[in-house]
Amino acid sequence: MTDGQVMRLIIVGRQGSGKGTQSARLVDHFGVVHVSTGDMLRTAVKAGTDVGEQAEAIMDAGELVPDDLMIDIVSARLHEDDIVQNGVLLDGFPRTTSQAEALLEILGNGGIGVAINLEVAVDEVTRRMMARGREDDTFEAITRRLELYEAQTEPLLEWFGARGVLHTVDGLGDEDEVFARILEALTPPSR
Ligand code: AMP
Repeated sequence: MTDGQVMRLIIVGRQGSGKGTQSARLVDHFGVVHVSTGDMLRTAVKAGTDVGEQAEAIMDAGELVPDDLMIDIVSARLHEDDIVQNGVLLDGFPRTTSQAEALLEILGNGGIGVAINLEVAVDEVTRRMMARGREDDTFEAITRRLELYEAQTEPLLEWFGARGVLHTVDGLGDEDEVFARILEALTPPSR
């Protein structure tokens, strides 16, 4: 789970799986820095930066921002002091196998400690996302994001699995219950 002293966690799951909520709890619990690429991009859009301008229409359509741009943003962030010192929880990145390969390059072998897959079925996440009413949550964008998740992000689960770092956790149930499951999944079995 660690490379040197710091912890690097990755959380993966369909949009609407409760990743954001569970990420906040993991960050509190382990004292790592929360890096949500969706939040970073939304902040960039609001601030009207170059990155924001490149990302806005793509995000509104529910498409993926190009790998190169995402890798640059995340790579820069991972080299900042707070993360080097305290470790990180990556939420929303990697989302494609190319992003995962790039991450491996940045962090080095053993650098990807644990990937948590928060499993919630498509019907349930669609219901949740329609209910939260975020600006970029139109039905079309939600459907498109879920399609892309199956196409681009699901293969990533195999990629993590092949590296022996994947822990799949059932994301149905209340917040406390799901968090307890995550912690249990992260606890090495006692011998
Ligand atoms: P999220 O909040 O994680 O659902 O991200 C919101 C939107 O930001 C996504 O629908 C994508 O358009 C974009 N985005 C966030 N992270 C990534 C990523 N790692 N790769 C490509 N696009 C991303």
